[in-house]
Amino acid sequence: MSGAIPLLTAYEKGCLAERQPLPDRYIGLSDEEMDARIAAAKAALGRRLVILGHHYQRDDVIKFADYTGDSYKLSHQVAKHPDAEFIVFCGVHFMAESADVLSADHQQVILPDLAAGCSMADMADPEQLEIAWNELQAMLHAESPVRADSKASVIPVTYINSAASIKAFCGERGGVVCTSSNAAATLAWAWAHGEKVLFLPDQHLGRNTAYAMGVPLDEMAVWDPNDVRGGLTADEVRRARIILWKGHCSVHTRFTARQIQQVRAQHPGIRVIVHPEVPWDVVQAADEAGSTEYIIRQVTSSPPGSVWAVGTEIHLVNRLADEVAPERTVLSIDPFGCLCSTMFRVSPNHLLWVLEGLVDGEVHNRIVVPPDQKHWTKVALDRMLSIS
Ligand code: SF4
Repeated sequence: MSGAIPLLTAYEKGCLAERQPLPDRYIGLSDEEMDARIAAAKAALGRRLVILGHHYQRDDVIKFADYTGDSYKLSHQVAKHPDAEFIVFCGVHFMAESADVLSADHQQVILPDLAAGCSMADMADPEQLEIAWNELQAMLHAESPVRADSKASVIPVTYINSAASIKAFCGERGGVVCTSSNAAATLAWAWAHGEKVLFLPDQHLGRNTAYAMGVPLDEMAVWDPNDVRGGLTADEVRRARIILWKGHCSVHTRFTARQIQQVRAQHPGIRVIVHPEVPWDVVQAADEAGSTEYIIRQVTSSPPGSVWAVGTEIHLVNRLADEVAPERTVLSIDPFGCLCSTMFRVSPNHLLWVLEGLVDGEVHNRIVVPPDQKHWTKVALDRMLSIS
């Protein structure tokens, strides 16, 4: 096999942070005590601190965020706060890495629990990508070598849900980062610069976005990093306009078209909106698809009394129902709700620990992207920010 499953995740290979367990004294505190101590630590740190919270974060943590948003929106907040010495990112590892790359030298980015990773991001390993890249070039150019004046034949595009090492790989090879908010604009940019796109790690976001842009399914190919030459023939690679890495989100792939049929049967007239990390047939069964920010916008701008079924992580769905759009009825497509268990690892206990550490002059769980990856990761992220 050319692409063996990695023993270490891309994060563990690249990240310079040392894992520190939560001290015992932060376990078993009452909610009231944690709330009061977090608020006190925030007040003591003042403008030296900015807390960013992803939409999927649990309620008892996100209530302390200064800014909430999806990965794209939060990445903009980093540059808007050059005064903040500490950026505490209540999200998952790849988000904190991007924040570190976009931050200034005097800023430190902290992830309250280093175990908060992303299973999708772990599906793209830098060594597998290197192998795939070389094999793709060999398959594409075996019969027609690249001419010096031709466009680059493959542009690598990585979803922001990937390790810094993957982003750096793409940046160095003329590629770019995208988010679910700007995936279509990024693909349009990539096709303007090359003939084909290698899209990773989420095959579903790539497929759903390209299809919505008019690319038929038979002009897409799926590259399996654990199979010889991705499990594809040279002809299949040559025919494809987009080559999709075989990765997925374990949360969003739990939604099914059958669940949508059921929810429509139970609530006639309901509008169904899903995140584009869901499988293609689920997007086809829904009324519309878009990023978390898009979902929030659509639901909150709908007339009071509207009824929505939403296909994304359960914390955002519940927050839409209870706080953001209370005059609408909002429910999950999955009757049991889909939880991002790694995002859930960031607890108020971890937040309290890192904040009180900062008050005492100790930095726990700092995320530092290695210098050799930082430059090209920033190139790829800056390209993304300039496209949108
Ligand atoms: S919801 Fe999916 S893609 Fe997002 S952080 Fe969780 S596992 Fe990763």
